[in-house]
Amino acid sequence: MVDLTEVLLTDGKVIKREADITLRKLSYRFGDFKIRSASPLSLTIENKGEKKLMISGQASLEVLIPCARCLEPVASRIDIQFENELDAEDKDYIDGYSLNTDQLVHDEALLVWPERVLCKEDCKGLCPVCGKNRNLGSCDCDTTVRDPRMAKILDIFNNAGK
Ligand SMILES: [Zn+2]
Ligand SMILES: [Zn+2]
Repeated sequence: MVDLTEVLLTDGKVIKREADITLRKLSYRFGDFKIRSASPLSLTIENKGEKKLMISGQASLEVLIPCARCLEPVASRIDIQFENELDAEDKDYIDGYSLNTDQLVHDEALLVWPERVLCKEDCKGLCPVCGKNRNLGSCDCDTTVRDPRMAKILDIFNNAGK
């Protein structure tokens, strides 16, 4: 939370603040993601007059995001940078005379969310049969044939050779 009293009092006033990010996880419809570390949020807040505030800021977060193939958590850096004009009565971000910086960070992080995170470029993923993480070793599952109709045809070939 950043106190806006001073900046709200005078049109044209600009303040700069550093706010600690107290958020410990990011929660979206597609999951909860732990924040492992975060830089302070540096903010510039300008009173544009007529109860409008221009809020710009930046921060970087290290968030644990599951690998798209093997689901192991991967420490991923998320850099947020924004410039938003807010109404002084915007209830999403402004509570009385305080700016809800965690809510800002939460919403801005979603905008720059990485499309696909991999633990490594050649991640082998999970076995589709037993679910074992194939980066940790192979399993004995036969994953060459997954379509039962195909398996039947292969049986015919195999039997024909006997
Ligand atoms: Zn992986
Ligand atoms: Zn397997």
